[in-house]
Amino acid sequence: MFTSRRTAVFVHGCFWHRHEGCHWCTTPASNPEFWAAKFARSRARDIEVREALNASGWWVGTVWECGLRSPHGLR
Ligand SMILES: [Zn+2]
Repeated sequence: MFTSRRTAVFVHGCFWHRHEGCHWCTTPASNPEFWAAKFARSRARDIEVREALNASGWWVGTVWECGLRSPHGLR
């Protein structure tokens, strides 16, 4: 039997959340170590939050920033 799950949808900025292969997922040329550390943290946090929600029965969806921009960012 189908049980309805609660739904959470995140809108992720392509830059901060590292949308792979995306036009907006750029890396600044200066301070590569600083950015790598920052991005690693935000990715780890995304995974953590998603897993916590999944574990408590939420369905988690992601909408990327580029999907909300028209139409250049659409892939
Ligand atoms: Zn994107």
